[in-house]
Amino acid sequence: MSSLLDTYRKRLIKRMLHTGLLSSQPTVLSIFTTNRCNFSCFYCSRNILDESPDAEYRYDDKSEFHMEELEKILDKYPAIRKVSFVGIGEPFLIKDLIPMAMLAHETGRRTTVISNGSLIHRQWGNIGPNFDDISISLHGLNAVELQNIAKVKENIFNQFVENIRYLVNVEAKEFPNLNVHASVVFLKQNLERVSLAAKFCMENGIPVLDLHNYLSLGPDARHNVVFEDEHEYIDFTEKLIEECKGRLKINPPVWIKRDETEMEWGCISFYHYLRVDGLGQVSGCGRIMPPEAENGNFGSEEDVFQNEYFKSMRASFRTGKGIPACCRYCPDAQ
Ligand code: SF4
Ligand code: SF4
Repeated sequence: MSSLLDTYRKRLIKRMLHTGLLSSQPTVLSIFTTNRCNFSCFYCSRNILDESPDAEYRYDDKSEFHMEELEKILDKYPAIRKVSFVGIGEPFLIKDLIPMAMLAHETGRRTTVISNGSLIHRQWGNIGPNFDDISISLHGLNAVELQNIAKVKENIFNQFVENIRYLVNVEAKEFPNLNVHASVVFLKQNLERVSLAAKFCMENGIPVLDLHNYLSLGPDARHNVVFEDEHEYIDFTEKLIEECKGRLKINPPVWIKRDETEMEWGCISFYHYLRVDGLGQVSGCGRIMPPEAENGNFGSEEDVFQNEYFKSMRASFRTGKGIPACCRYCPDAQ
């Protein structure tokens, strides 16, 4: 029943935004904190090769987001209710992360951060009071895997595990409002890894695991995506959720529609989502499209959220014409 109500509510909001009954203003601010990272995962979108068909989605702009930029944006857009500190890079590498989270939190916004978990020990005592959610991306479930994927020394895994345990056993206990999640990509070629990720969470006390469908940027990688008619994978997930019940909450991926004509194209990202980086670049996409110079600049434009780029993207989702190809396999468009 609640999911039916949720669907109805989302459709109503979408309709109100499309018809202008609700005004378009940023309520979510997603900050690309830096493109620097202490990991170098081979699948990272910083490492997409020039010759790859996905090269247009690569993010490798050297920048770092600072406090004064956040102050400027929050002053300009007081309707922002949530501030997310994300990559593509490691947020815990930047100097202003905690002061920025503190500012957002103290002004009543929800604060979230996505991290690889290897550097969070630098901020014990500051995470719980300043963040509502921390999501740890599981890039390696053992020392060898982490070394192979992220090109880091084997001992980084020990630090990572130590950090996770402290996070859930000390930081989150002392600050019970802090929600700790882990996340992993659902790879259909490697279901065992999904089970191992769940086991890792249970062994280390992580209470919630988010499974993400493979985010295909275009048709070339669609074989990695799990479609809603692939019952083998869906049954596997349901069984795992059941097995872990009471010990770990698993949020399943959004399964992708096989038939494009059945899609709702219901994404309202461009109506309420502002993604920014330290160069002032912007995007209105909550998943795939990184901030880019050609989309506008929050530093030099009076109201970047109402510029031609945002208006034309809103028109695309309102009319169904000119929606970018990368949206086809995105959970928000299904
Ligand atoms: S941890 Fe994240 S940002 Fe860093 S290299 Fe890996 S995928 Fe990229
Ligand atoms: S549907 Fe498109 S615009 Fe919306 S979040 Fe997904 S990729 Fe971004």
